[in-house]
Order: sequence, then structure tokens, then C-alpha cells
Amino acid sequence: MRWSELFIPTLRDDPSDAEAVSHKLMLRAGLIRQLGAGIYSKLPLALRVQRKVESIVREEMGRIGAQECRVPTLQPADLWKDSGRWESIGEELFRLRDRKRADMCLALSAEEAFTSIARFDLQSYRQLPQIWYQIQNKLRDEPRPKSGVLRSREFTMKDSYSFDLDFEGLDRSFALHSQAYSRIFERCGLVATPVEASSGIMGGSESVEFMVFTDAGEDWIVVCPGCGYAANLEKAVSIPAAIEDPDACGEIEKFPTPNVRTIEELAAFEGGAAPERQIKTLVLSIDGELALFLLRGDHELNEVKVAEETGTMDFRPAHPEECRDALGAFPGSLGAVGVTHLPVYADSALRDRRGMTTGANEDNFHLRNVDVARDLAGLRWVQLRSSEDGDACKSCGHTVRLHKAIEVGHIFKLGLEYSESMGAKVLNRDGKEVPIVMGSYGIGIERIMATAIESHHDADGIRWPVSIAPFEVVVCPIRMGDEQAVAKAEQIYTDLCSSGFDALLDDRDERPGVKFKDADLIGFPLRIVPGPRSLAKGCAEFVDRHTGETVEIALGDVVDEARRRLR
Ligand code: ATP
Ligand code: MG
Repeated sequence: MRWSELFIPTLRDDPSDAEAVSHKLMLRAGLIRQLGAGIYSKLPLALRVQRKVESIVREEMGRIGAQECRVPTLQPADLWKDSGRWESIGEELFRLRDRKRADMCLALSAEEAFTSIARFDLQSYRQLPQIWYQIQNKLRDEPRPKSGVLRSREFTMKDSYSFDLDFEGLDRSFALHSQAYSRIFERCGLVATPVEASSGIMGGSESVEFMVFTDAGEDWIVVCPGCGYAANLEKAVSIPAAIEDPDACGEIEKFPTPNVRTIEELAAFEGGAAPERQIKTLVLSIDGELALFLLRGDHELNEVKVAEETGTMDFRPAHPEECRDALGAFPGSLGAVGVTHLPVYADSALRDRRGMTTGANEDNFHLRNVDVARDLAGLRWVQLRSSEDGDACKSCGHTVRLHKAIEVGHIFKLGLEYSESMGAKVLNRDGKEVPIVMGSYGIGIERIMATAIESHHDADGIRWPVSIAPFEVVVCPIRMGDEQAVAKAEQIYTDLCSSGFDALLDDRDERPGVKFKDADLIGFPLRIVPGPRSLAKGCAEFVDRHTGETVEIALGDVVDEARRRLR
């Protein structure tokens, strides 16, 4: 392609409303333009990158036997009512009515649509396994669209769905996806780490996210350098630094704490206790039933863990009156000593603690000398707090670290969730009807693009991995008036194109400084400059965008050298 015939509206300055580096650079390099909050148009260069990412995805999906399909984005609500997601998903789902007043929605993933095909067309175990996928727009009314195409409201996802006869089959389909995903990310120039993730409320048995560590990420990952354990903070389990307790503690003692309501107030109160010597008691209403959640005073409740433990997102803090009616006191004086009529979840950091202080279930009174093992009954032990940097690894004891990361892919064992709710069954070998065992798997195409920029850029602009660069090489003649120089540049460009390179000729009548700046900003992996000094020696200059290295290559070797560097 010739630059003069391409629409590449580069910007000189950083746009003021963009924060993430990838967002700034995609705007400045003329890749995207904003149409509204969280919605972006892709210009020619971005689309070239997108096509390359998609073709890598297609190749790798093909390698695991997945078949490309396409289901509509506009979907009838009835399907979503069958699966239960019409109710369970909140405002993230775009809902609308058609002219006949029928409820419709814009799909944010396509489990329902693919399951509806499976339930009609799959009848026998002989038709299994199947893996179906599509690369298509998804719409999500994200609560906080941000960072450009990293989190937008309309984006492209490769989503696939596996259909197996049994759970061993699902394990195989899941492992195939895991391998395909690792290859896809590697080929796109990303270092993606598979991490254990929360299965959330969909009730799946296993879920793995592919995470690229970068400060632009919105997720926190707990990583153990000792044994390689890696998990999303929502899911991670680790051991906090131990706290020395007295060997034995005396009998429980009730003491007055007038107007003391919070952990901090009790810490400041004379005769109170430091936060790490307190038991924090939270009461939640879960699907309308109260339950207690105990944490060390200085720890916070992680709500995703509550959802995982209880299997629902439908929870809220209990109202003060509900606490009083159930426990005899208002929040600020609550505790679990003697509580047997409500479920009590306890964070693992409280295990075997002694000499603790907690609310007495009597307003303005607390209890001291609480021995958790001795005085609290029927506890459901779980990790309720978020892991922290510096915790010990639960398997090897090494110190764990927290990293910020971007989720680029997510693979998920759905199990029977959709096949049961939507009635997708097949006859097994014994002629018995069984629900199909399903998995679902997603990759964000634009998110790969933006994450590649987050991982590969410098002060001058993007440094595309060759595999997904909008062009592999740009040829920059610098003396547009000089017919001989221009002819040489044209020759190099033509040779590269006919050898199969994705080459761009910068035939604009611009100063070299402008051309080089644009080339660096857009981030073509290789720039070839047949400048007057090089040409005088029968050479052209090669500039490597990744290393900054500049070398002169004999004109006759240009194509071979390009092949050596780019292939
Ligand atoms: P997140 O936690 O970042 O919102 P998610 O868990 O909602 O992601 P999935 O539903 O698993 O994501 O979607 C699969 C993939 O689609 C993600 O791994 C990501 O690459 C991409 N994706 C999800 N939401 C967005 C979005 N708003 N904008 C761009 N890509 C997205
Ligand atoms: Mg999301």
C-alpha cells in the first residue's frame, strides 16, 4: 500500500481525555476514533491489526477442531429467560423491544444461542464432541467503560462453546482451549499467564483467566514465585503473617464499651484491642436469610468470595433492625459467641486465635479473652478476605506477590448449567437421555490489540509484534524530488510485496523527520530508508523499531535481510 492512498490520521499530541498508554497511542497513531462513551470506530490500520489477530485465532481454533459459526447479536429474550440469565444479569445486558413489543437483547455472550442449536440438532453421543465458535461483536453496558478499547461497550470476541458427553470430555475440550489460547497469545506477542479464576455465580467447576501483567490492568493477581501458583485476587488463597497470641487466655469477660461502634473506635478505647486482636462481625442478608461473616479486625470482606461460598450474588448488608431482631444488638456490638441459629462463616486468618475481642450482642458491650477454637461453634472456614502482598503461599510457604494484570482470555467449565436449564440432551451409549456437558471460552480481539501496545511501546510510540503489525515494513524514500532515489524506493517496495511482505511505501511529500516520527508512532517493526548516503554505497538503511538498531544493507540483499528479520 501507498501511504498517500491510506487514511492514517496521526495526531501530534496526546489526547487529553485518554489515560491508558494504549488508548493514547491508538488515538495518536490514527487507529481508532471515539463515537460515544465506551464505543469506538476502527480506522484502516486498526482493522489490519484486527484481521491479523483474528487470523491467528482462526488458525489456532482450527487446530483444535473448532468450527466457525455465526449467531445473531440481536436475540429474543425468551432464550435468556430459558437460561435464567434474563433475571440473573443486571444492567450489563442491553435490552430493547421490537415493534411488536417483544423483549429482545443484544448478546453479551452466546451460550443461549449456541445451546439452542445444540438442543435441537444434537441427539446422540455419536455427534459429540463439538466445538463451535464465532468471532463477533459483543455488547455490554459496562458500568465503567474505560481505557479505550481495553474495556468498551461494543467489542469483538472470539467465543467458543464445547459440547461433550461427559465430564472427561469437557476436561479434554477445556485442555484443548487452554493450549490454543497459550499459542494464540504467544503468537500475538503477549506473555499471558493462566491463573485460577472465580467461577462466580454461574456455578461452573473450573475457570482459568489468561492474564498479561501490566500496570494498565484492572485485575490483581496473586503470584507465588516459589511454586508458580497464580490466582485472581477474587479467588486467591494465602496465609497472612502469623500474630503471636497468649498461650492460654482466661475466661470470656464482658466489658462496657459506650458509643464504641467501629474497629478503630475499639482500638482507641481504653481497655479495647488493636484491630488484629479483634473479630469483625458482619451480618449479610443472603437470598433473604441472615448469615454472619467473621474477619480479623484489620481485614476486609471480599464480596466475590461471599458469592462463591454462598452461590449467589443476591446479598446485602443486613439492616440494623434485622441484626437487632436476630442477635439482640445493633451493628457495632455484634459477635458470634453463642450464635448457633445462623450460619457463621469465618475467615481462615482467625483460625486458632486466642485472646480476641468481639461484640457481645448487647449494645455498648464487648467480650474479651475470646478463644476462637474454644468459644465459637460450627464455623464454616473459608478465606473471606483478599490476599495481600507479602502473605505466605498456601502450598509452598514462599512469599506471594500481587501484580496488576489485564484479562485477555477466559476459559470456563460450564458443566450442566445451560444444558439443564435449556434442555439440551443427547442419548448416551445405553440409550439414556443425558444433559450435554458444556464449556465456554472467550478472547477479546481489541483487548489483545491494546494489551500488545501496553506491553510493547516506548516514548516514541507503538512497537508492534511483527505478527500483528498493521504493516511489517515501511519503506521511506526521503528525497521525493530525486527521481533516482524514488525509483530505488519503489523497487525495494515492489520486491518486498512480491516476496509476500506486508509493506507500506511512504510516498508522502513530507520531511524525513515527519515520516520517521509517524513510522515510530505507528510502530512498524522495520523501516527501510534508501537515503542518499546509503544509496551512494549501494545500500539502504534498516532501522529496527524494537531494538533501535540501524544498519546498512546492500540493495541486492534487502529482501533476504527483511526475511531474516521478519520471518
Ligand atoms: P472483565 O472481568 O474484564 O470484565 P469478563 O470476565 O467480563 O472480563 P468474559 O465474559 O470472560 O470477560 O469475556 C471474555 C473476554 O472478552 C475477556 O477475557 C476479554 O478479553 C474480553 N472482554 C470482556 N469484556 C470486554 C470489554 N468490555 N471490552 C473489551 N473486551 C472485553
Ligand atoms: Mg466484564
